[in-house]
Amino acid sequence: MELYELSIHELQDKLREGETTSAEITASVFGRIDAVEKDVRAYITLMRETALAEAERADLAIRKGEMGALTGIPVALKDIFCTKGVRTTCGSRILNNFIPPYDATVVSKLRAAGAVCTGKTNMDEFAMGSSTETSFFGVTRNPWDLERIPGGSSGGSAAAVAAGECIAAFGSDTGGSIRQPAALCGVVGMKPTYGRVSRFGLIAFASSLDQIGPFTKDVEDCAILMNVIAGYDPRESTSVPEAVPDYRRFLGRGIEGWRVGIPKEYFVAGIDPEVEAAVRQAIRAVEGAGAKCMEVSLPHTDYCVAVYYVVAPAEASSNLARYDGVKYGFRSEGNRDLLEMYKKTRSAGFGAEVKRRIMIGTYALSSGYYDAYYRKASQVRGLIKRDFDEAFMTCDVILTPTSPTAAFRIGEKTDDPLQMYLSDIFTISANLAGIPGISVPCGYTESGLPIGVQFLAGHFQEGRLIQFASAFETHAKIERRRPRL
Ligand code: GLN
Repeated sequence: MELYELSIHELQDKLREGETTSAEITASVFGRIDAVEKDVRAYITLMRETALAEAERADLAIRKGEMGALTGIPVALKDIFCTKGVRTTCGSRILNNFIPPYDATVVSKLRAAGAVCTGKTNMDEFAMGSSTETSFFGVTRNPWDLERIPGGSSGGSAAAVAAGECIAAFGSDTGGSIRQPAALCGVVGMKPTYGRVSRFGLIAFASSLDQIGPFTKDVEDCAILMNVIAGYDPRESTSVPEAVPDYRRFLGRGIEGWRVGIPKEYFVAGIDPEVEAAVRQAIRAVEGAGAKCMEVSLPHTDYCVAVYYVVAPAEASSNLARYDGVKYGFRSEGNRDLLEMYKKTRSAGFGAEVKRRIMIGTYALSSGYYDAYYRKASQVRGLIKRDFDEAFMTCDVILTPTSPTAAFRIGEKTDDPLQMYLSDIFTISANLAGIPGISVPCGYTESGLPIGVQFLAGHFQEGRLIQFASAFETHAKIERRRPRL
């Protein structure tokens, strides 16, 4: 096995034993990037030189016996995290030349933990999409089938982990953008509770829904990364001052007697039969581990996509008002006056999907329509949240498919926004309710595409999710395949 194929915990064992160095690991990852990135295109910006320097520093620290939580481990960052001195585009032309003067809190925490940053990964423009096709920087391809999308919007991060172009990665999830690409690329992806991880320095899409989380090769790595990024941040007003447990302590504990809710509304028409079969198999696996599965109802499920596509665009239209060509980012030149500059900058700077969201959101917030749309959607959001509160009175975790289908073909849904929006039918509810969710690989289609199963739990129950996912991983014994690239 090559070093780039190993997990964080396997590499940490080797680093501790002195069997390898961060310089070797980092060289292995960049060797892999040189071999496959031309096909996968997971990255917008590679940070080879700084990564190699960081690896040298990590090796020095290890030799001195100062091994931090991530010392010497190469990780990739979605290009939505501000990185001091490194271009941060959010997948958009309008931020094509934006170099942030500061690091996002998550980035500072990774640096403090000793991580090596490999680069900034591709994403749908402003995280709006489910396929990474709306990026100004081109499409990322699914490492399992280069004709297919990797999911989105954090498709570059998911693809990079699956392809071995980093050891682990980070993304953001507003309606499924971590869990859905994780499922489609055959890796683990977690969206923590709203407020668990600081969003300071995360470029905002929909501020009441956005949350940061990890992409990893297994559940143990997920626990390791959650230990590093979770926690209160005085610079971020929605981060919650709740104590962070050691998530590793939840690994391997078993789930004997746990009650698992299977929401009946999530097994309906539209779900691919192969996905459904794999998820039913996952239900049997958790039963085999001693859990008891029961049907639960989330009666407002039908409204989730509609509510999300009012709330998210409304918040986006407000968040994206700042991109006007004045303070930073792209500016259209040669205009007669300020208004023309605004107009031309925004017309040329944003892509079609972002413009569609800005128009929907501005309309939903405009006077005369606010009550009918944004207010109404916020009220229904309350009902969706209550569905989960009630379900979690009778069960410990909820199990659903992550995505209704495996990876679809590039271009298949680009002309049909509604079809694209339905890719997130099973993931959006967790963002609306603010609860944590994790997607874990649970099998393959006959043609060899990965399938994911999603586990959801109550607010701040990430530990419980990790415990459950780790037991699932042990009992389901899903074959660990690697994409042939
Ligand atoms: N696909 C959803 C959207 O387009 C969710 C994206 C996300 O989670 N950032 O908005």
